[in-house]
This record gives sequence, C-alpha cells and structure tokens, in this order.
Amino acid sequence: MTRAELFRESEYAPGSVGDIFRLIRSGAANSRSTLARQIGMAPSTISLRVDSLIRLGLISEAGDEQSRGGRRARSLELSSGAGFVGAMDVGAHHVQVGIADLGGRMLAIEDVPVAIEDGPALAADALWAALRSLIAANELDEAQLLGVAIGLPAPIEYPSGRVVLPSFMPSWHNADLPGLFAEFTSIPVLVENDANLIALAEQTMGGESSDQLLAIKLGTRIGCGIISDGRLHRGAGGAAGEISHTTVQGTSTISCVCGTPNCLESVASGGAIVARLAQLGYTAQTAADVVELGRGGDAQVVDILRSAGTSIGGVLASIVNFFNPRDVILGGAMSASAPLVAAIRAELFQRCLPLVGNDLDVRAARSPGDAGVRGAAQLILEEVLAPARIEQRVRELDDSPTDTAPDDTTTQPA
Ligand SMILES: [Zn+2]
Repeated sequence: MTRAELFRESEYAPGSVGDIFRLIRSGAANSRSTLARQIGMAPSTISLRVDSLIRLGLISEAGDEQSRGGRRARSLELSSGAGFVGAMDVGAHHVQVGIADLGGRMLAIEDVPVAIEDGPALAADALWAALRSLIAANELDEAQLLGVAIGLPAPIEYPSGRVVLPSFMPSWHNADLPGLFAEFTSIPVLVENDANLIALAEQTMGGESSDQLLAIKLGTRIGCGIISDGRLHRGAGGAAGEISHTTVQGTSTISCVCGTPNCLESVASGGAIVARLAQLGYTAQTAADVVELGRGGDAQVVDILRSAGTSIGGVLASIVNFFNPRDVILGGAMSASAPLVAAIRAELFQRCLPLVGNDLDVRAARSPGDAGVRGAAQLILEEVLAPARIEQRVRELDDSPTDTAPDDTTTQPA
C-alpha cells in the first residue's frame, strides 16, 4: 500500500472549514453564531462549512443552546465516535497497545508480548496483529481506524520517524516503522520518542497542565521530552532532549553507542543499574525488578539507587537552569523507586538557581502506567484531525460522484 500523506504542523486559512473544525473540536466555539462572531464571516458562509463537517460525520449538531436574543441555536460538537486511532508504546521489556476515540478517550489499553530483540520487521507484524485483535475484541470496525502512533525508547528522526542509533537495540538502527506498516495499511503511521509521548500526555491530560515542561522517562534508558510554549520541541532533526549522554561521575556498567566515557545512561539508567546489580550477584532483569529490590530496603541496592539519582539530578539541574520549566515530570518504570526519586529531587533542588527553583514542580507522571499510549493517541489525533487534512476530506466529499444526496439542509428561520 502507499504511505499516507502527512499534515503535521501544516497551514490552514482562518475561517476555512479546517479552522472551523479546529474551533469546534477545541471547544472554543460551539454554535454557528459563536463561529460567525469569532471568525467574522457571514453566517451563511459559516453554515455551508459546518454542513460539510456534519455530512463528513465529524461534527454533530444537537440539543438546544440558548443564544443571545432568546433565539434557539443548536450546539455543535465533535462526533468522537466517528472513528478511532491506534496507540502503541514499545519499551525494552513491555509493550502496550491501545485505542482511543476522536475525543482522546482511551477505549482500551492492553499489555502485549512483543519481543523487540527480534528486530523491527517482526515487531511491526506483531504490533499490527495486536492492534487488530484489540479492535476486534472491542467490536470496532477496522475501516474506522484513522491512524496509528508508535512510541519507541530511541532517538527518532523528525519528521521521517526513522530510528537513529538506539542505545540498546542495535537491530533497530535505521528502522522505518511507517514503511513497514505501509505493507498492512494506508492510514497515517507516526513514530515518536517515548519521552516526547509522556510530555504530550501530561500536557493534554487536564488539570494544571504546563506550557513549559520537561518529561523524564526513567526506564531501561533515560529520555527527556520537552514542551516549550505549549508545543512539543523536537529540535532541528528530532534529537532534542537526548540528555543521557553527558559525562557524569561514576563508572559505566554497560556500553553505550554514544562513545562518551561514563555517560549518564551507561552509569545511571535502569539498564546500567541492572548490570551493576548483576556484577554484585543480584538477579534483577528489568527496571521493575530493580525497583522491587530497592523497596525491600537492601542497603547496597538503596545505595546504588541513591547514587544513580544523584547523577540524574545533576544532569537535570543543568538543563532545568537552562530551560526554566514549570514542571519536571518523572515517568517510566524507575520513577516508582522512592530512593532514586528522592536523590534526584535533592540534587536538582540543591543545584538549581533560586529563580528557577522557586516555581519548579517536580512530580510523578499523572498516569505513569500508560502515559506512553495516551501520548501516542494525542499525537496521532493531531495528525488525523489536522485542519488541513479535514479540508482535504471535505474537498474529496464535495468532488465525490456518489455524493448525490438531495440538499436536505433545513432553512433556518432568520
Ligand atoms: Zn551514552
């Protein structure tokens, strides 16, 4: 199949049908009259465009909204059931697959066994099969699947989605998951760094979400996602937030592709701690095992966790002083380790500037167990519901020869 065209960050004209969709979707406008007021266009023009969105099935008009002057106006809202998206979070030792409606509500999330060490081609097969079976189990129609996003614990080139020199999965270097998925489907498929997805999930999960935020993924590796002025900051090529290859005090226990002696990842990541514990005769295999050992209170393990936390906190202090975020979010399996997190906080607050530290909130991810899939759902929703894509869908609908239904738009009394 051919790859879908992507509309990421594409332009749209104010007052266009895409813009009108965006305003309704965000809740900024909920009736034809508020749209006309906000956009400053003739109500008749607005109505034609709203009608197109209704015919597309993306917007529904229901209920009665009391408008100014006592006339009744009907309220417009996103039809969140007009399709759904697939979301996947691939970690070193766990994979989650989920589906979300167009309003961003997660309909299902499932842990699935996918062996990433088998390489990207087999993993793509397994991920696609897992998504299809989740869709079937939830009695959804696969034809309504509009797009898929996949998070990976690796640097991801933007916008291609190509994996570049992942530190612990060498067979994934240059992996092109959108290309592999094009064997199965022609819907848009996006690949994103896992820490970026945690950042997106935090920003969109409601509550007091911050426009200046760092999300630190503490898993087998260490990653960082950046929200700057409310937008995901990927940098020029997608490598923004690769904080873990800074030299720190301590000794590497694993090799790292970066070539920097004693980089943070090779000294203090979950993978490095597992290796250190193995040298000492412990049997921990995963980051989650390390957290469990620390919880047991073994003094040697707690010492190792504290020292890793001090290294991570030191690197974070530098980037926090540079970036001045409001929130630092800690996610990933290792963020459940109390001694590690306490040491990160202590070092970070000790070394950050007063102007930076006064307003800084360091906290756990709101939904640490599934932040990755939630962020993936947000990412792909922004793509499949992008104003420019909606414009295109409306054009296709208008050009469609089968679309010969009589004009049944009821005339609104003026
Ligand atoms: Zn490194």
